[in-house]
Amino acid sequence: MTFNDLGICDSICKALADEGYTNPTPIQEQSIPILLNGHDLLGSAQTGTGKTAAFAIPILQQLAEDRPQTKGPRKIRALVVTPTRELAIQIAESFDTYGRYTGLSNTVIFGGVKQEAQVKALRRGVDVLIATPGRLLDLMDQGYISLKMLRHFVLDEADRMLDMGFVHDIKKLIAQLPHNRQSLFFSATMPPTIVELSGKILGDPQKVVIKPEQTTAEKVEQSLYFVNKKWKAKLLVHLLESLSYDSVIVFTRTKHGADKVVRSLEKAGIKSAAIHGNKSQNARQKALGDFKDGKIKVLIATDIAARGIDVEQLSLVINFDLPNIPETYVHRIGRTGRAVSSGAALSFCDGEERVYLRDIQRLIRQEIPVVQDHPFPDDEEEEFVVRKPASSGRGGSGYRPKPTNRSGGSRPAGKNRFQRNR
Ligand code: AMP
Repeated sequence: MTFNDLGICDSICKALADEGYTNPTPIQEQSIPILLNGHDLLGSAQTGTGKTAAFAIPILQQLAEDRPQTKGPRKIRALVVTPTRELAIQIAESFDTYGRYTGLSNTVIFGGVKQEAQVKALRRGVDVLIATPGRLLDLMDQGYISLKMLRHFVLDEADRMLDMGFVHDIKKLIAQLPHNRQSLFFSATMPPTIVELSGKILGDPQKVVIKPEQTTAEKVEQSLYFVNKKWKAKLLVHLLESLSYDSVIVFTRTKHGADKVVRSLEKAGIKSAAIHGNKSQNARQKALGDFKDGKIKVLIATDIAARGIDVEQLSLVINFDLPNIPETYVHRIGRTGRAVSSGAALSFCDGEERVYLRDIQRLIRQEIPVVQDHPFPDDEEEEFVVRKPASSGRGGSGYRPKPTNRSGGSRPAGKNRFQRNR
């Protein structure tokens, strides 16, 4: 199956060829014909499956085929709403890339920055608007955005949108959309609240389900380290020092935890940067830029901040903390198992996180292979040593990690394991 076979026009096929996309991914193969036929779509799929192109390509094609004859500034004919600015920027880049030869234009708006430049771009006129909900409503209220000519509406990452408390914004927005439109609704998970919301947006949608276990969990080489909470930072340093990798994202549950990891790594002489909601937009963009350029190889991220990070060469994900929502685990490891390449994901699990582990393994229907032999195990014997400082002979907590050489050849990944062929 090629993009040509799916009825994609030459100008878009040329742009896809420039990008080195030879074949559509499963979600693209299924969604593109539905969308080109004008149907609404309910997509159960997550980042990493090629979802963005699955909606951007057919929207661009329909916009290109149906250009208005009227003169004057372009009117917004497609709107994509997505929860984070990183995702919004990434989606806009995809529209730029795939629409390179179509002459269609887009702009992206999100909060946390001054609105002037965004208003200017809107005044010039665009075919496609990519937006986060808050700023979108704000600029609509101020009269800078008219959606009268809207023909295509995409709600992306709907479950994340609700998690982030955007439900009222979304409902307010839907009330202002013209009825005669094509609607697309994407969500990684489909709990009842999401199904209910989708009913408010979609007409009679066709459904496409790309299960996470078919896309990410199977493609990514996963391993698990049982480790006492207090030794996680040391284990991380040990792994970062002993493994070879091009780029790694380390996930922590909290912003505070992310900063703590950066400090621990700094002490060990490992350069890293954290991105999370407490950082300014500039600091986040800089950290991301340095990471993409390879100036720093280790990025520490919380889940929300990491949405939308699109790093082609990401070779390794480390879950410093296991997420309490099992789907988040799949999202995280999906950062490395991108549409065309596979990657590796290492997860730390302390005593309190075993319940999360159970839920994750149930969701992915796999047991994650355990690395037994590492210098900071969390077995009962070690716990015992920790509680008996007198027997340790070195004061403090009394913990003495097992010697590194004990791990022999059982390390999950040897040198170069996580390096991509460039
Ligand atoms: P997404 O799920 O939209 O975040 O896409 C994941 C990654 O896959 C992005 O880096 C895209 O550039 C890439 N991608 C999307 N579709 C294709 C394709 N058909 N062939 C190769 N790479 C693709």
